[in-house]
Amino acid sequence: MHEDVERILLTEAQIQAGIDRVAREVTAVYRGQAFTVVSVLKGSCVFASDLIRRIPIPLELAFVSASSYGEGVESGRLEVNFFPAESEIQGRDLLLVDDILDTGRTLSRLVDEMRRRGARSVRTCVFLDKPARRATPLSADFRAFEVDNLFVVGYGLDFAGHYRNLPYVGALKRECYERPRSAAR
Ligand code: 5GP
Ligand code: MG
Repeated sequence: MHEDVERILLTEAQIQAGIDRVAREVTAVYRGQAFTVVSVLKGSCVFASDLIRRIPIPLELAFVSASSYGEGVESGRLEVNFFPAESEIQGRDLLLVDDILDTGRTLSRLVDEMRRRGARSVRTCVFLDKPARRATPLSADFRAFEVDNLFVVGYGLDFAGHYRNLPYVGALKRECYERPRSAAR
């Protein structure tokens, strides 16, 4: 285990079993229908790449990079870094895949934006769900795991850009996120 990790919440084996289940659910819904998995960068890249390899029906893959800022459901804005081409959205059935559903702001704004840009349907699939933190009424169509209200890293999820490559999901040691950045250590 990494020295900054307090404890492991989801082992590699648990993660793979959860993804197997979600992949079966997604496959059942989209069988016989062309669809596009839209991975929300950067956090969902690990989950999305494991997920699509367990979905044995035709699909396309696209990426989006965006963050949501501001409090409140209406007032905040979506900062878009990268969006798929118009032809990849218009008239398409999209499955938005994200790492974690927290307040729900990012994903709900992305769903709205995809619909505004002409998607035919938009469903959501998240690796982790923290329902206790929700600030906007969004529930994912598919989710692998529910987690308690604590900050987690690994399997794509970062803290200050690090830990995305951990093969498990863990809780960080408190001193790692409370450490003053200016302090020389
Ligand atoms: P929200 O649902 O609040 O709009 O934002 C979700 C985003 O916040 C996620 O995509 C992720 O980047 C970040 N996030 C929320 N909770 C956690 C967490 O426990 N750990 C990490 N690493 N990121 C989180
Ligand atoms: Mg993210």
